[in-house]
Amino acid sequence: MTLRGWVGSLFLMLVAGIGFLAWERAEGEAPTIDAPGALTVAASGRDVELSLADAGSGLRSLRVTIRQAGEDTDLVSEEFPGSLVSGAASAEPTRTQRFNLDPKALGLVDGEAVLTVVVSDWSWRGGFRGNTSELVIPVTIDRKKPRVQVLTGLSYIKRGGADAVEYTVSETPVRDGVQVGDEFFPGFPHPNMPGRRFALFAVATMAPEKASIRVIAEDAAGNVGSGRWSVVLRERVLPKASVSLPQNFLDVTVRDLAEAHDLTGEDPQAIFRQINTVMRRENEAKIREMTADSAPTPLWEGAFDQLTNSKVTSRFAEQRSYFAGGIKNSEAVHYGYDLASTSMAAVNAANHGRVVFADDLGIYGNCILLDHGLGLATLYGHLSQIDVSVGDEVRKGDTLGLSGATGLAGGDHLHFAVQVGGTYVDPLEWWDRSWVRKHIDVRLESSSAE
Ligand SMILES: [Zn+2]
Repeated sequence: MTLRGWVGSLFLMLVAGIGFLAWERAEGEAPTIDAPGALTVAASGRDVELSLADAGSGLRSLRVTIRQAGEDTDLVSEEFPGSLVSGAASAEPTRTQRFNLDPKALGLVDGEAVLTVVVSDWSWRGGFRGNTSELVIPVTIDRKKPRVQVLTGLSYIKRGGADAVEYTVSETPVRDGVQVGDEFFPGFPHPNMPGRRFALFAVATMAPEKASIRVIAEDAAGNVGSGRWSVVLRERVLPKASVSLPQNFLDVTVRDLAEAHDLTGEDPQAIFRQINTVMRRENEAKIREMTADSAPTPLWEGAFDQLTNSKVTSRFAEQRSYFAGGIKNSEAVHYGYDLASTSMAAVNAANHGRVVFADDLGIYGNCILLDHGLGLATLYGHLSQIDVSVGDEVRKGDTLGLSGATGLAGGDHLHFAVQVGGTYVDPLEWWDRSWVRKHIDVRLESSSAE
């Protein structure tokens, strides 16, 4: 080939190369933006997350602005590394971008605003400015806290006990109820007073000494309003009890329980410790889960019934230390009442409710959980027989099953417990007609303004 020929073909190859590069680098695939369809922003602001992607030449720039009353404010202005020759420096086609929308810092007022997201890529299209995608997101700025007005004048509550409160909220809340320290007790529409809210709450046996108690209400934007009222908390002396574990209890009951729940190990004391701590914790978590979705109306009526002709053998909130062969094995708090009657006695529903659990539940053996609505639930443990199924509606006095000694039980008895919003409370209050009247019923009635 002549020199001219060589130069000619080199030139052609160069043109073809540039042509190919131009064809590749001028791809027409615009970047994609994944973002919320609309945003509501509270006084405290909020984080916004955008997911950007460009499979072609890669992401080049991002610009986010917010517009309110004709005024634009830049929120994000970013250029991503890369060049027009090789495209984006990063081989990763996607990128997550987070930024904060703070109405106060941005000078935004309550009302509507518009968020605009503009993303470009490293394509040669658009006169080397790249393909551009734009997304417009409507924004509602709502810095107003819901106003909570508590209508209950005064609450007397005993540690380990419950009470009720009535209140109103200035706007429809997405979440409202009573906050007691770290525990939250959801509120419900007042069953008899339109426009009002009602919540049962409890001060857990182990709640911190000066736990703050208030009604809180959160709106859709995330603004949280709160209201206080006078709450008098009476302390409780927790009875202490020593329980010695007989050898045959460890050898038979504990071994059977371990076997039924696939716990392995040779040392019966170690197995008991595991049942009394780990299994107990798991069982309590399960109970909380099963009672969390309570009916929004009260299913119960008046006081609760104690097991017929029963003798109390153990009370609420007893702090138990378990001993085996004179050596301390473990500790647990007894969050119910032990009631002994004749063996295999009929166990009746303490009040109207709905069966939410009826099965084996570890330390509680055959166990039934009833939901009574508004966060109130009762538990029946150690049964020898279960006569109801999940979903059954039961009336006060209906037979649920027969007492027994299943689970972690030394002999035939009923373990009866009451929960308010997942917190164990003293059943004694709910068995007491005058307590129920004074603390609950008067606030559930229609003429209960104080
Ligand atoms: Zn018990």
